[in-house]
Amino acid sequence: MRGAEGREPVITVDGPAAAGKSTVGRRLAERLGFRFIDTGAMYRALALSVDAAGLSPDDEAKLRAHLEGVDVRLRGDRLLLDGRDVTAEIRTPRISELTSRLTRLAAVREKITPLQRRAAAAGGVVLEGRDTGTVVCPDAEVKFYMDATLDERARRRQAELRARGLEADFGTVRGEIGRRDVQDTTRALAPLRKADDAIEVDTSELTIEQVVERMLAEVERRRGCRAEGRAADGAPMSGLYAFAKPVAAALLRLFFRLEAKNPDHVPSRGPVLLVANHSSFLDPPLVGAAVSRQLWFLAKVELFRIPLFGTLIRRLNARPVRRQGPDPGALRTALRVLEAEGALLIFPEGTRGEEGVLRPAKTGAGMLAVTSGAPVVPVYISGSGRAWPRGRRFFRPARITVVFGPPLSFDGGRRAGGHRRAQYEAAGREMMAAIARLKDSVAADGARLKPRVHAQIQ
Ligand code: C5P
Repeated sequence: MRGAEGREPVITVDGPAAAGKSTVGRRLAERLGFRFIDTGAMYRALALSVDAAGLSPDDEAKLRAHLEGVDVRLRGDRLLLDGRDVTAEIRTPRISELTSRLTRLAAVREKITPLQRRAAAAGGVVLEGRDTGTVVCPDAEVKFYMDATLDERARRRQAELRARGLEADFGTVRGEIGRRDVQDTTRALAPLRKADDAIEVDTSELTIEQVVERMLAEVERRRGCRAEGRAADGAPMSGLYAFAKPVAAALLRLFFRLEAKNPDHVPSRGPVLLVANHSSFLDPPLVGAAVSRQLWFLAKVELFRIPLFGTLIRRLNARPVRRQGPDPGALRTALRVLEAEGALLIFPEGTRGEEGVLRPAKTGAGMLAVTSGAPVVPVYISGSGRAWPRGRRFFRPARITVVFGPPLSFDGGRRAGGHRRAQYEAAGREMMAAIARLKDSVAADGARLKPRVHAQIQ
């Protein structure tokens, strides 16, 4: 799903204090490779500066003058107040209380709301707060409203404070949250309320993982209904992809004399899973440049956290995958691309290895092949591990060849029944064997060419 002008969606998560918005919002953003914006933290930073200046929340004229000179910025996960990292300092009951009183004031909201809108303008963000779906981004593509009972929220807040070494009485915590609820819901400006088009999630009985999974499913459901589904195949490439592909292809030919063998094995339409060996950063653009249709890729989630770079690779059809442990979200994303008739490139071996050394496939690759039933095209990339191996800062000249093999089918495995894990592993072995055959064919071609090369050199 993309928002207006092909940008990534804006997702808002609103709700009362301690409903779990920050925790799930952060994880949701991580799973999607989006930026997370804690809007409450920005207000808290203002409160900290007002507190330090000894100003009263009742003197709006003085406050307005003070706020003009205050600089609040979110840098990744850190919150900077006039350039100073105040991420930890803003999380005290005193600042919570003062923030809630200050956020009633126009001077305060007029200062912060435009900053939040600016941060969300590029899309690919999850905003968390009280008014993000109603006032900050009323046009957000997906809105959530999270709630839980007052007792449950007080229990969670008490546990959170305890984890930080702050002992607090349950009744006091409950009272403090209750007062903030009243202030946040009854204020005249941007009060806390559920946007009409927000999806309500009651988290009282759910674990964090369950909530995140539910939200991801909702985001993906909408993705499936909207542009991602259409864009995967027949639809035009994104502007950036269409621009980057020929440029990358020209550069790769120039530096590495890139040669593609039998790219016609990749069907020009319909779902297809490309499985390749992996020994270099260069591998995704190499395969992307070698085939005529646009590809989707999976990349480690950490890369999406790098400012600008994360947005860039997302626009170039990369989707995040977690390295540690199974990642059902990534499997669903991958299936979604295939269901939408897209072409997806994966590296069954997982992370990059050495040039010319094939390793066993991870279970996820076989699982994807069997579950999707899509044709699987084996790909062998020769030379990328010499051109830009792991651990090197720069590439060096080397000849690179990308060879495509005839499609394999694992559709039968799905129907045959039997032990599923065994099926996935068998599919993984079969795809690696096909890649090994392509590797041998490259070696044989090389051997045939050698005498001629010698002749040329002499
Ligand atoms: O979410 P958090 O508890 O950090 O927010 C602190 C306070 O900031 C809230 O009680 C609320 O008064 C205010 N706030 C707001 N609008 C937002 C986010 C937070 O008024 N979008």
